[in-house]
Amino acid sequence: MLWRGRRQSDNVEDERSDTGGGGGFGGGSPGQFRIPIGGRTGGGSSIFIVILVVLAGWYFGFDPSQILGGGDSGGQITDDSGSEGGGAGAPASDEMKQFVSTVLAETEDTWKGIFQANGLTYEDPKLVLFSSQIRSACGFASAAAGPFYCPGDHKVYLDMTFFQQLDQQFGASGEFARAYVIAHEVGHHVQNLTGILPKFNNMRQGMSEADANHMSMQVELQADCCAGVWAHYTAQKGILEQGDIESALNAAKQIGDDTLQKKMQGYVVPESFNHGTSQQRQTWLARGYKSGKLSDCDTFNNPI
Ligand SMILES: [Zn+2]
Repeated sequence: MLWRGRRQSDNVEDERSDTGGGGGFGGGSPGQFRIPIGGRTGGGSSIFIVILVVLAGWYFGFDPSQILGGGDSGGQITDDSGSEGGGAGAPASDEMKQFVSTVLAETEDTWKGIFQANGLTYEDPKLVLFSSQIRSACGFASAAAGPFYCPGDHKVYLDMTFFQQLDQQFGASGEFARAYVIAHEVGHHVQNLTGILPKFNNMRQGMSEADANHMSMQVELQADCCAGVWAHYTAQKGILEQGDIESALNAAKQIGDDTLQKKMQGYVVPESFNHGTSQQRQTWLARGYKSGKLSDCDTFNNPI
């Protein structure tokens, strides 16, 4: 990805020097939406039609060409305080942080354009960099649980050592694999703004585990598709390089529930899947990427 020299978001909060404020681990309270490293519940069924009716106005039939004109100027927020480069007291700048800040800025531009084209206002999420553990509105989390989005504070949480893990442990290397992870979490933010996550959090309380897992997969695969939609517009900007999409698709494959379970426990328990299989994750990511349309990301009214 040709990211160098592009705008960096000023919505990155660097809390790496903090140790998380003490407290426990827990690896993920019920409100978090994260890349699966361990197990989680989630869930659902077809009652989601209700939500889709609410969303239908902008979900379906919007014109991507409007968006291209809209949010892509790349310089709408021109204060380049962009977290890097030199503010007094800022931690030493490092390349990976610059990369993360740039990818976040690209998601901001894309989603701002998509929301605008549909008469909505996109509110930028924050992205918190942390090390080891962190306290969020969703509770304490350990880096071991992987990156996550907390709907309660509209923040994506990322310990960048996850990227090494992605590379070395999961076999998903490449810059764009990392960009996909960020875009997936931002996809959850989009779901939060559009009301999907709040509904899901309410509904899953009363669900069986199997239903909750199924609905969790629908939510997660939609976030993958949102990442694909973002990648579509990123490609339109001409900043993707050969192999970028392949490395994102490979990452989606490597963090599929079935692949992870096989790797970690040697066998697969399909009833416990809550993010989607490798194939499902690749399919939905590719689907969003291909068309760039959110209407193609309806994981609730289509077979997943
Ligand atoms: Zn997720």
